[in-house]
Amino acid sequence: MTTRSETQTTLDHLLTEIEHRNPAQPEFHQAAHEVLETLAPVVAARPEYAEPGLIERLVEPERQVMFRVPWQDDQGRVRVNRGFRVEFNSALGPYKGGLRFHPSVNLGVIKFLGFEQIFKNALTGLGIGGGKGGSDFDPHGRSDAEVMRFCQSFMTELYRHIGEHTDVPAGDIGVGGREIGYLFGQYRRITNRWEAGVLTGKGQGWGGSLIRPEATGYGNVLFAAAMLRERGEDLEGQTAVVSGSGNVAIYTIEKLTALGANAVTCSDSSGYVVDEKGIDLDLLKQIKEVERGRVDAYAERRGSSARFVPGGRVWEVPADLALPSATQNELDENDAATLIRNGVKAVSEGANMPTTPEAVHLLQQAGVAFGPGKAANAGGVAVSALEMAQNHARTSWTAARVEEELADIMTSIHTTCHETAERYGAPGDYVTGANIAGFERVADAMLAQGVI
Ligand code: GLU
Repeated sequence: MTTRSETQTTLDHLLTEIEHRNPAQPEFHQAAHEVLETLAPVVAARPEYAEPGLIERLVEPERQVMFRVPWQDDQGRVRVNRGFRVEFNSALGPYKGGLRFHPSVNLGVIKFLGFEQIFKNALTGLGIGGGKGGSDFDPHGRSDAEVMRFCQSFMTELYRHIGEHTDVPAGDIGVGGREIGYLFGQYRRITNRWEAGVLTGKGQGWGGSLIRPEATGYGNVLFAAAMLRERGEDLEGQTAVVSGSGNVAIYTIEKLTALGANAVTCSDSSGYVVDEKGIDLDLLKQIKEVERGRVDAYAERRGSSARFVPGGRVWEVPADLALPSATQNELDENDAATLIRNGVKAVSEGANMPTTPEAVHLLQQAGVAFGPGKAANAGGVAVSALEMAQNHARTSWTAARVEEELADIMTSIHTTCHETAERYGAPGDYVTGANIAGFERVADAMLAQGVI
């Protein structure tokens, strides 16, 4: 029987190997570290997981596709972007995960997201593997026609690699209902198939699921509420800071407000807005979803309760709860120290890996409840899997039914993470609980299916 420290040494060697084999991919290294650092207790306790090659296979994507995406802008000039799809693990089901269109996208970013997605999807308890894709295309400031031409060119290559039983993309940063529409249209045109289950996040009239747009934000708030309940508290009357102003942030604010909390901030890359009366969602939705504008317009139009802080970070606003819902590494150790000083009780990640490892450590040491993204933001992909189920059955469920299923899934993810952390000697540590529980499910399937 190997000890935990011997196991940890083996995992540390593997991490060094991962860094060598995947140079210049710091986000992927970070995501791999974060998982492998917590697996020693389970690998030491269950010898089958120490089988040579199991974890080595888990950290190597099954397939990685990179391709040229040429398109013409409105002036007729040819632009060239890079497209990616990383099909990481299909032991539990077809690859599943979003597409991100953002200038920061590169292979390492997509690999970190795909790796996270494996464990997140496993935690939902549904039959979905892990994958992620995207492009360094920046939709900001582009006309609808340009976005359409880009999406059509992107799909002209991607269609070969996806399918309802193979790989099912969805949205992520920069990819919402508009982009999914253009991508679906081009897939249908090329393949001559009405294959609703090939993409999720579709429009409601053509195969989309009710509550899919809301699901990530709603789910994160339900997860935060479950963490608070463990401590004998609820959301009523709590002040919350939320970063971001995209789909995740908007529906996080909506659910917080519905459950009696006061969500006082939102942000984008230009700075943040603080509104002591609570964010007015109709105004925010109008600015972000209809006008595709910036958050400073919110402060201008809202009146005296709100102000715009250029270049600042929402974490400096005192709050009981923090829900980072923008992007990776947006909350560092200085931000964590500020939150702790201001008495934060819980941090729950709506975005993927928004909290740096140093910040996570600091928060956990200070006794703050910390919900890692792969558990806390799994509601989005979970409802995507429910969208696939509806598509397969050629039916659509009521909003109430989808919301009920979402709530059950979030409760069960919370319970699983909580109990797993306890079982492996780390009570209250949701990072360890989420990593081990997700790992167990995928690893068992991989072992059963042989060396592939
Ligand atoms: N992009 C979302 C995530 O990070 C959703 C993926 C999906 O619905 O497939 O989980």
